[in-house]
Amino acid sequence: MFESVVTPMLRISVIGAGYVGLVSGACLSQFGFQVTCMDSDKEKVARLRRTEIPIYEPELDRMVKEHIAAGRLRFTSEYCEAMDGADVVFIAVGTPSDVDGSADLRYVIQAANLIGAHMGQYTVVVDKSTVPVGTGQLVKQTIFSALKNRELTIPFDVVSNPEFLREGSAVKDFMEPDRIVVGVESDRARTVMGTLYGQLAEEGRDIIFCDIETAELIKYASNAYLATRITFINELALLCEEIGADVSKVSAAMGADHRIGPNYLMAGPGYGGSCFPKDTRALVSIGRDYGVNMSVVETVIRANDNQRRHIVKRITNGLGGAKGRNIAVLGLAFKPDTDDVRESPAVGIVKDLIYRGAQVSVYDPVSMENTKSGALAQLNVSFADSAMTAVRDVDAVVIATEWEEFKHLDMEKVRSLIRGTHLFDLRNLFERTAMESLGFTYYGVGR
Ligand code: NAD
Repeated sequence: MFESVVTPMLRISVIGAGYVGLVSGACLSQFGFQVTCMDSDKEKVARLRRTEIPIYEPELDRMVKEHIAAGRLRFTSEYCEAMDGADVVFIAVGTPSDVDGSADLRYVIQAANLIGAHMGQYTVVVDKSTVPVGTGQLVKQTIFSALKNRELTIPFDVVSNPEFLREGSAVKDFMEPDRIVVGVESDRARTVMGTLYGQLAEEGRDIIFCDIETAELIKYASNAYLATRITFINELALLCEEIGADVSKVSAAMGADHRIGPNYLMAGPGYGGSCFPKDTRALVSIGRDYGVNMSVVETVIRANDNQRRHIVKRITNGLGGAKGRNIAVLGLAFKPDTDDVRESPAVGIVKDLIYRGAQVSVYDPVSMENTKSGALAQLNVSFADSAMTAVRDVDAVVIATEWEEFKHLDMEKVRSLIRGTHLFDLRNLFERTAMESLGFTYYGVGR
């Protein structure tokens, strides 16, 4: 639980009410600010107005309801409402991969254009979306042109304030950040951003002020580095399998070294989600634009793709082929505590298994609706209402996401329900000896 405090009155609007925008809006209301969240998706706004939270994120539901009721948080699908009297406007729209791997900036530019079309007073426009170096300047030019079309000269500043929250702990990450990165060009904007994050600064959180381009790069550098750690341990896992070593022990011992630390060293089916895949591709593309070969990151992207292929091969080899096999995949989200399945390795594995002729049943504690209508919509997948229903009469069980629920599964019951014996534990949730004693043919990753 986070305490609500009263901070000097800034009126804030957040453009884009997705994972980042909605969490940012709710948390800024928690600081005591008046916040308007704007989204072009009218259906999403209608749901939010009915206090139906469109995403699964711990704490978010309670916070949004509380701040709507307190009159601090409201939703609109109109730019004119969002811009009316706003002192600070966050851009938190999506920046998906374009076909060449670069970040597709069309939503950011749309937003900047409409901000310029409706701006009525000095505004600090804060880019929270993850955007390539140079986007801050592009946003500035776009707003400037929109104002020029209106034959107006209104002063404004553009700031880069990349977001580092992790889905599954987004509220906590926003309220208790390791650091806040703020790329600014003017003292006026710096003062506004200082006020905005005043409570966090008082709590001793680091605010790193820098220029806009540095701030933009920090976000990509951070994500690419974390993706590199995951890929590094996954490649070591492959080596462990060949030499009979245990990657869990390798990562625990590596992580005990304070120079290395324990996080992002868990072997598995590869990284996924809405950020690491697209941000690594975008960093390679930024490097290309500036004539710098980002060879480490390029290799990480390739190795991560190989990891998923390797996992699928492991499953199909273990079963003597996928054709006609019944396989249960437990977990669809790219990680626990989120319903986000964008570039989830679990979804990729389900698709590969189906492509190879398997019959697949799936279960995820929160991502079923998402995948039914989205990523797995056109595929012949059986959606189960529980893990036990999914595993009934299958030849193999694949654990693809490390949900807490799966750590506590009654594996004796699972064993009694399945027709075959194969257990592919892609998150190393279980001990081999314990599973073998239950009669499973057990496969972990790297041990
Ligand atoms: P999202 O897809 O969940 O949400 C984006 C929202 O923006 C959608 O609701 C969409 O309808 C809305 N939108 C698109 N164009 C719009 C426009 N012109 N005007 C108004 N609304 C518009 O995206 P997300 O996951 O919240 O990511 C947003 C940005 O934050 C991306 O750049 C992402 O890389 C970055 N980011 C994401 C995370 C994460 O964990 N999801 C973490 C850190 C940073």
